[in-house]
Amino acid sequence: MSGVLVIAESRRGELRDVSLELIGAALALKEPAGGRLAVAAIGAGASGHAEALGVQGVDEVLTVDAPTEHFEAHVHSAALEALIEEERPALVLLGHTIDSLGFGPAVAARRGLGFASDVTRLAWDGGPVATRGGYGGKVEVELDFPGSDCVLLMLRAGAFAPAEGSGGAPARAVEAQSEPQTEHLGFRDVETGDVDITKAEFLLSIGRGIEDKDALPQFEQLADRMGATLSVSRPLVDAGWVPNARQVGQSGKTVKPKVYLALGISGAVQHLAGMQTAETIIAVNTDPEAPIFSVAHYGVVADLFDVADELAEQFEG
Ligand SMILES: Cc1cc2nc3c(=O)[nH]c(=O)nc-3n(C[C@H](O)[C@H](O)[C@H](O)COP(=O)(O)OP(=O)(O)OC[C@H]3O[C@@H](n4cnc5c(N)ncnc54)[C@H](O)[C@@H]3O)c2cc1C
Repeated sequence: MSGVLVIAESRRGELRDVSLELIGAALALKEPAGGRLAVAAIGAGASGHAEALGVQGVDEVLTVDAPTEHFEAHVHSAALEALIEEERPALVLLGHTIDSLGFGPAVAARRGLGFASDVTRLAWDGGPVATRGGYGGKVEVELDFPGSDCVLLMLRAGAFAPAEGSGGAPARAVEAQSEPQTEHLGFRDVETGDVDITKAEFLLSIGRGIEDKDALPQFEQLADRMGATLSVSRPLVDAGWVPNARQVGQSGKTVKPKVYLALGISGAVQHLAGMQTAETIIAVNTDPEAPIFSVAHYGVVADLFDVADELAEQFEG
């Protein structure tokens, strides 16, 4: 068994962002895993995604045609088994998404593969090493898979940088026999309750540095004034100050805004897991050694309240 097999995802005819993130993660492990990276698209219209998936570093795009364009667990399950037979990969990467959860774990169990879900970091040490939360998100766990010659990992969406650059990898159709056993009736969009910070282009994110719940309204108003959405680090949620829909990080949401302005956030690894792929990160912290500065594109060593007052003035009216 060698090489990496990525299973791309699409919905309503569009490739989902997680597909290129899986390829990005796979590229980092391609060489130690054996040097080959194949990316598969499953479903009616799969071949239409071949060009977008054949990015730089991908060796071949495999397409598995299916009777339905919508996700169907039995069809995907049979396709994944056929792809594993065809490719004999050392590592299979899927998104930790509602669709892939419908067939990935079942195939891993049926074939006795090494398995981990909701993976937020990946490395290679003689085989894949996956990092994920454990015990309800209270600890981080590093897993290796001794004795497994094929490992299936489900990667958290938004936690890995997407692959870029066109590569023109060749495409090839792979056959898989299966019949859908469920019928797709339609899509219904869910209410997000509070706000959906994963969709925001500009996040003003505050951490324990604000010190007091009474300071919250000042930052809610500042976010409004700047046209930003307010997000927070976990201590503010644990303290019950802010609903958990606004938490960024490993046990919160993974965000990818154009601008992430972090005020009084130290940059613990569990926080970085949720925001380090933001396009531009600006950090304000009184501690010049704060780890957030290691991922920030712009850093200000200053009191966050002074910066907040200055911003409020700048964005006045
Ligand atoms: C399994 C697990 C999962 C976790 N999941 C998450 C998660 O999803 N999201 C998350 O955020 N955390 C998560 N955590 C918690 C994480 O480890 C940190 O404890 C948390 O991120 C710290 O939040 P913080 O940076 O706001 O607070 P702190 O680490 O206390 O940092 C506060 C920062 O504010 C600065 N500061 C203080 N006063 C000022 C001021 N006046 N002006 C400017 N700067 C100031 C300080 O220098 C400091 O750097 C998790 C932990 C575990 C174990």
